[in-house]
Amino acid sequence: MNGQDLIIKFEELLDITRASYAAFAEQTERAIAEQRPMVLAVDEQNIDADKFQLDVALLKAAPIAAVPAHSPFHPLQDAGHRFLLAADGLYLEVRRPWLHFIHRLAEHTSVRIPYGALANKVELAFGQLGTALEQMREFAVHAMEAAPLESAASLIWNSDLKQWSIKMPKIIGEATASRIQYEQVDLAEDGSESIAMDLHSHGHAAAFFSPTDDADDAGTVKIAGVFGNLDQNMPTVAFRLCVLGLYLPIQVPAEKIFG
Ligand SMILES: [Zn+2]
Repeated sequence: MNGQDLIIKFEELLDITRASYAAFAEQTERAIAEQRPMVLAVDEQNIDADKFQLDVALLKAAPIAAVPAHSPFHPLQDAGHRFLLAADGLYLEVRRPWLHFIHRLAEHTSVRIPYGALANKVELAFGQLGTALEQMREFAVHAMEAAPLESAASLIWNSDLKQWSIKMPKIIGEATASRIQYEQVDLAEDGSESIAMDLHSHGHAAAFFSPTDDADDAGTVKIAGVFGNLDQNMPTVAFRLCVLGLYLPIQVPAEKIFG
């Protein structure tokens, strides 16, 4: 066998290797696809590949998962959210550096759902809202000075240092007695900071969440607080936890901040 023959033989061997690798890869891919739970109700063999990628991307952004009935439940680890199907209905789970939230969105028990049980949960990394009292009071002073104009502040939770700070956002245009528009404050680039609380004031008007506030807070994950009646001896406050369109009222006595 001369050198030329050897090269030809080698090329043949390479072709065989390539072909068997391709067959192996195809078989493996099929086996994985068969083993994988079908979370998207599609026929993968008969769909538009680009549209399917869009559905896969949506599923990745907001996954669904069944709550295990026999194994321990493993909570969401990274910032994001997912839907959970449990024995008694559909739940939402949300994770932020400062928050772990589980909330039943819809109860269902007529048709037996063969999954595990889950309970509502609101876990705040900072424990109580009162840990930010100093920053709330700082904003209160600022808001009283600005009244009757509205003002706003973001309370930042630093999950590395485990401490609060306050940042006043840059106002866009001119604040009025009923409207304020501001830029989102800058956060540390290392990801240690997140906006856990947004505060704004209603000047001399009462503290409540207006339709404008509802529209602004839709789709956000944060605690929202509004201070009002800032010309009174005892101003009013309202707080709520905003989670992707859910609003859960939080009772905070105004005396704690203004007393
Ligand atoms: Zn408002």
